[in-house]
Amino acid sequence: MAEVNNWQIGRTMEYPYPENRPRRQIAWIFDPNKCIGCQTCTIACKSTWTWGTGQEYMLWNNVESKPFGFFPVGWDVELMNAMGPAKWNGGRYEGETIFEGLPPTERVRGWLPDEEDWAFPNIGEDEVSAPVKQGDYFPDLPHGTWFYHLARICNHCTYPGCIAACPRQAIYKRPEDGIVLVDQERCRGYQECAQGCPYKKVMFNNNTRTTEKCIACFPKVEQGLQPQCVTSCIGRIRLAGFISPPGQVNPQNPIDYLVKVRKVALPMYPQAGTEPNVYYIPPIHAGREYLRQMFGPGVDDAITTYANTKNDPELLGVFTLFGSAERIMHRFRIDGEIAIGMDENGAEIVRVPVREPSWVRTYFDEVRQAYNHNIT
Ligand code: SF4
Ligand code: SF4
Repeated sequence: MAEVNNWQIGRTMEYPYPENRPRRQIAWIFDPNKCIGCQTCTIACKSTWTWGTGQEYMLWNNVESKPFGFFPVGWDVELMNAMGPAKWNGGRYEGETIFEGLPPTERVRGWLPDEEDWAFPNIGEDEVSAPVKQGDYFPDLPHGTWFYHLARICNHCTYPGCIAACPRQAIYKRPEDGIVLVDQERCRGYQECAQGCPYKKVMFNNNTRTTEKCIACFPKVEQGLQPQCVTSCIGRIRLAGFISPPGQVNPQNPIDYLVKVRKVALPMYPQAGTEPNVYYIPPIHAGREYLRQMFGPGVDDAITTYANTKNDPELLGVFTLFGSAERIMHRFRIDGEIAIGMDENGAEIVRVPVREPSWVRTYFDEVRQAYNHNIT
């Protein structure tokens, strides 16, 4: 085992391979506060990449509702059972990651879902955390009863569990963008990767007898475009770009700004130790204990910052840029009431008004001698 630096858990950790960060690391930010669970992203991904024989049950992108939805069934419950309660000391994780404290014969603490576990992608959908009685309402935050939609893709982790587990070295991380891919020629379908991924984002193709996973729409990324799940998102909850390496921060890069400067977007289950590269803005109405076990110790500060967005023109401006352009944004600038996204060379690719203009109609139109009211 090598000793590698994992900034998300605030310490070094054991990993089967030495630290070898890519030249650039792709990253996403998802905002579950805005996700409506419409599954447009799921279908955009499926109709692009997994419409073939043997891929019928594959959803590289899925949206489940928490706390009772899962795909595959119980994936996060299994992870929590395997790891136990997370022990944080400030920003430092004191417990063991999935790579640590193992017998010499094992490289990853994992488990393999049953075939049937993949057959119920919308199990638990929209089930709330506790029964709701007639007449209940929830004026305060967090709500006493809640659910939220959690969109999930492969995290294109810095220290992937799938790579650590594969005995064939058939999975690799591209140095040019950090995208994690399965080499279909080398894969023999042992499914060690499916066992080793804590997020259960590697899936077995029963036709080819190999494993497959989200490819981050690399043909689009190579052209400077954001992946399909991002550009098709109805709720504009997603942004994809590149995150700076640990110790470096570019405050004009929208991903760095939200993850490193404002710390409003957090990795999911960082205690697993894979350093995932999808970052989530915690849903402000959901139970805090639940969110802390899922997104770590930064949850409360992130929610305080997010809840104040309307008084924070820069933060509001960056959120306005979500879903506003197909091109990858490398930089942003807020110019008064306009948010501007730029490409790698600083050329402008989009400008969006931070606040949409609105008009309030008078109740009675003096000119037409008519009442203005909705009759739908
Ligand atoms: S989320 Fe899973 S499949 Fe994706 S890189 Fe991380 S360990 Fe591998
Ligand atoms: S398309 Fe966007 S809003 Fe709809 S389910 Fe997917 S992430 Fe949520």
